[in-house]
Amino acid sequence: MKVTVITGGSRGIGAAVALRLAHDGHDIALGYRSDEAAAGRAAEAVRATGRRCVTVALDTADEHDVDRLFDTAAAELGPVAGLVNNAGVSGPNGPLAEADADGMRRAIDVNVLGYLLCARRAVRDMTATGGGAIVNVSSAAATLGSPGQYVHYAATKAAVDAMTVGLAKEVAPLGIRVNCVAPGVIWTEFHEDPQRPAKLADTIPLGRSGRPEEIGGAVSWLLSDDASYATGAVLRVAGGM
Ligand code: NAP
Repeated sequence: MKVTVITGGSRGIGAAVALRLAHDGHDIALGYRSDEAAAGRAAEAVRATGRRCVTVALDTADEHDVDRLFDTAAAELGPVAGLVNNAGVSGPNGPLAEADADGMRRAIDVNVLGYLLCARRAVRDMTATGGGAIVNVSSAAATLGSPGQYVHYAATKAAVDAMTVGLAKEVAPLGIRVNCVAPGVIWTEFHEDPQRPAKLADTIPLGRSGRPEEIGGAVSWLLSDDASYATGAVLRVAGGM
């Protein structure tokens, strides 16, 4: 049994990851921003597998909130051995010339600072308990650049790829593995245009957008002992994009 913290676990990719990890035998501390009902549904799905789940509303860009998430996980479930850094926002959609600074700043705060704060706390906890594994959810946007849509968001995801590589090297001697999954276009409520995954299908080599469960499988593997020699990897799960 492992205790794993998942941010953004109330819906979309995070909820699918939570359910997959529960089937793998993880107890879950599920972070979310504000949608309590959605978090409750995701937690019930975890509990239906027989695993334990606590939910914590927080802003991952706030270090005190992050500490509260990890403190709750440890107090109610036990020592944290896994982290899935997943909570993310796109910020403004459109060309950079039209993007507002506050929206871009928020995307940087959540997607970069939030991931760093969660990873920092996870490393502190895992160092004290003898190791663990972290998976960061990045995006294929990190290498595609998202022109005309959200260049600032792609830049935050490139930062996630970079922190994966650096932190993996930094904490490998501590018995902590750090990897990354870079999804392509996935059917979630993330998109400003809800039909974007359908509209982009023709541009994807596999001919369709992905399902959240298909990201869950990749995260599951990277957290598992089967991936015991994998660290610093960015695993692209993007239908060939
Ligand atoms: P989503 O459906 O919009 O869900 C976002 C989740 O993050 C929700 O649980 C939300 O909580 C939570 N959240 C947002 N801001 C937060 C904050 N500041 N603090 C704590 N929780 C916060 O998104 P998704 O599509 O599942 O995306 C998950 C991750 O995958 C993101 O990092 C995203 O960039 C990445 N990704 C997505 C796609 C895609 O096509 N969907 C592609 C590549 C990468 P509430 O429900 O309470 O608001």
